[in-house]
Amino acid sequence: MLNDALLRRCLLGDKLAAMSRALVLNATFEPLGAVASRRALLLVLERKAEMLEATGRRFHAMAVSYPEPSVVRLSRYVHVPYQARVALNRRSIFARDGYKCQYCGAAAENIDHVVPRSRGGAHVWENVVAACKRCNSRKEDHLPHEVGLRLARMPTRPIGRAWILLAEVGARSEWLPYLGQPLTGHSATQLNIAVDVDSLAG
Ligand SMILES: [Zn+2]
Repeated sequence: MLNDALLRRCLLGDKLAAMSRALVLNATFEPLGAVASRRALLLVLERKAEMLEATGRRFHAMAVSYPEPSVVRLSRYVHVPYQARVALNRRSIFARDGYKCQYCGAAAENIDHVVPRSRGGAHVWENVVAACKRCNSRKEDHLPHEVGLRLARMPTRPIGRAWILLAEVGARSEWLPYLGQPLTGHSATQLNIAVDVDSLAG
């Protein structure tokens, strides 16, 4: 059996290249972020996390081998600072909506208030959607149904960080059950919000 120090050196050594990233869930199962899978394995070996899903590949260290984690859950609850939550802005709204107009599916160019601000609509996640110029100008100060527009889905506040993760690093298929509502069409360069999981889980 390897001692901890040796194990750590083996796992962090150059010979074991980072194979991929693992999803880290809070103790409450809320997605927190993604880390290198060998970092996730260390969390498991240090009993700071439990492995929920493996990739099917293995890390080899000396005479032993370990499954490469794909999803781990922290043993202790980590408080997520309020500042780490995602701001409501053009970039984050576009990311939530997959950079598509929520009325017609064309490329998003504007932010549309479903209930127009002139009619009392608030600037909140539940009342803003990405829209193309055409739909946005067609709508103006109307409600969608008044001008024959229909939302593809009701806008909601993104829950947890699932959608940031997807935007940043993409997702393995094993992650999807833990991420809630999966979104597509994101690009890491378009949404550059860092989630510092290493500091949270350290
Ligand atoms: Zn449109």
